[in-house]
Amino acid sequence: MNRNTRIAVVGAGLGGLTAAGFLQRAGFAATVYEQAPTFSRIGAGIILSANATKVLRRLGLEQALIDVGIKAECYVSRAWDSGATQYEIYFDAASEERFGGPYLNVHRGDLHAVLERAVVPGSIAFDHRLVDLQETSDAIGLVFENGTRVEADLVIGADGIRSKVRDVLLGPQPPRFVGMVAHRAIFPAERLRGFKIPDCTKWWGPDRHLLVYFMTRRRDEVYVIGVAPAASWDSDEASLPCPREKLVDAFANFHDDLLRVLEVVQDVSVWPIYDRARDDRWSRGRIVLIGDACHPVPPFMAAGGAMAVEDAAILSRCLAQLDTAAEAFRCYEATRIPRVGDVQRISLENSWMRGPTETDWFYCYDPCLAPLARPTSL
Ligand SMILES: Cc1cc2nc3c(=O)[nH]c(=O)nc-3n(C[C@H](O)[C@H](O)[C@H](O)COP(=O)(O)OP(=O)(O)OC[C@H]3O[C@@H](n4cnc5c(N)ncnc54)[C@H](O)[C@@H]3O)c2cc1C
Repeated sequence: MNRNTRIAVVGAGLGGLTAAGFLQRAGFAATVYEQAPTFSRIGAGIILSANATKVLRRLGLEQALIDVGIKAECYVSRAWDSGATQYEIYFDAASEERFGGPYLNVHRGDLHAVLERAVVPGSIAFDHRLVDLQETSDAIGLVFENGTRVEADLVIGADGIRSKVRDVLLGPQPPRFVGMVAHRAIFPAERLRGFKIPDCTKWWGPDRHLLVYFMTRRRDEVYVIGVAPAASWDSDEASLPCPREKLVDAFANFHDDLLRVLEVVQDVSVWPIYDRARDDRWSRGRIVLIGDACHPVPPFMAAGGAMAVEDAAILSRCLAQLDTAAEAFRCYEATRIPRVGDVQRISLENSWMRGPTETDWFYCYDPCLAPLARPTSL
């Protein structure tokens, strides 16, 4: 495509910043519009598997992420009652070579501080909340809440699960509450007073689960996310503070090794979990969606962020290699939809690494090198 094509990316999350980073490297003038006034260090961690870290390496971010996060040495699945190990996977030099990248746990705020370096300084317009898109025959106008209006040739909607770009593309439709909430907390590891925990453990109960992992290479910061059923969510807030007892009570009959950890947890917040029914309409005209804007899933496979990164890498390749936006969008959709469909299914089942699991198809995938699908009509 013509490198003079003006590309507007809405949303400076994992997907948006990765897409903008690759597009700028390919010679496009891509600008990112983000509603937040700045990035903040919200209290949550994120796991980035090798299929995502090898992409971020191409943006020069891998070492910085390793420095702020932790290369987990292992992931262990344990039964809620007996504590028996149901599955474990070790991440060492051999697995890193096999998967093509490290398995990282990192604080989301630290991740964003690093991700910002993927794009040309000054190419993120903060405090720009998109409220409308107005398409004309030769351009598309972006209208922001702050009164600004800019024109672009293409719009990439990377604006997450409540995407305004999606609303314009498909009509407004709120995401659905899945009947589960996530209790999240971060605490200093010294509170464990020497009690040893693996780098990453998932505790599996019959209708609930809980993940505990370190977020820093010094293993001094621990993240806990406990997901349990909830009949409803009645607030407009993305999260609310919650008494620590809510988390402790929800997992009170779990194994002692977990209860030792929960004893020292404080400052808990609770987050509703939403998704959307699968809808494979990801583009039309000058508009295309990536990440949670088009395929949000419950976070049970810890793969949503990685999918946004993969989308960004594939879409950038399609735009750089093909002649028109229409061809690029069709190629992007044909390449991504089958893989994302598998991840959506596994996330909904909550089956990833519950027991013996074939992981190569997921971790070994390299969206910067994988073949691009050619839709038959091209
Ligand atoms: C509890 C929980 C735990 C998770 N754990 C993991 C994990 O361990 N590993 C993993 O890979 N994934 C995980 N995920 C999923 C992951 O967080 C998402 O899939 C990922 O953040 C999606 O990236 P994105 O770039 O598509 O959207 P987002 O990260 O949501 O970014 C969207 C951006 O768009 C901005 N925006 C929104 N609306 C507008 C607007 N109108 N105008 C301008 N800007 C706008 C937002 O402020 C935001 O910066 C988890 C999710 C949850 C809820």
